[in-house]
Amino acid sequence: MGRKITLNVDGNELTKADLKERFDKYNELYFEGKLGKCSFYWMSPNQNNYGKYVDQPTKNGIISKIGVARNTIWTEENLRELLVHEMIHMYIRTIEGKKLDGVLGHGRRFRAHCKRLRKEHGLNIRIHADFGYINKKLYPKLWDRVLTWLIDW
Ligand SMILES: [Zn+2]
Repeated sequence: MGRKITLNVDGNELTKADLKERFDKYNELYFEGKLGKCSFYWMSPNQNNYGKYVDQPTKNGIISKIGVARNTIWTEENLRELLVHEMIHMYIRTIEGKKLDGVLGHGRRFRAHCKRLRKEHGLNIRIHADFGYINKKLYPKLWDRVLTWLIDW
């Protein structure tokens, strides 16, 4: 067994179990505990986004996974924004049962959740955000830099 891969957040090394702990907390706080099981994976360093929600339909329902990029500078606050952003995708897919919500999944339903979270909890969940230094060396051109601002697609 090699060294456990972790995520550096505000100087602390977080594991996937720590992500799950946050997921459970945000599920209770922001989604009435309605979200089901979710697992986490580390995204490939060649990706130019910060996170991703992946749904795998099976006979017994939808399996949800959230990918988190490690090649950026995380703070507790932007990790929360990213997780809650992906959890909105999960809610729309697994609870509201919508496969498509506008272009790249950030349509009316998504924006309604952002509005609700801002109103009820003072949370600012963006569709596009720039959290840090993700892959900017790999994408030196301006338009590629613009793409790195996407949380996901
Ligand atoms: Zn998104």
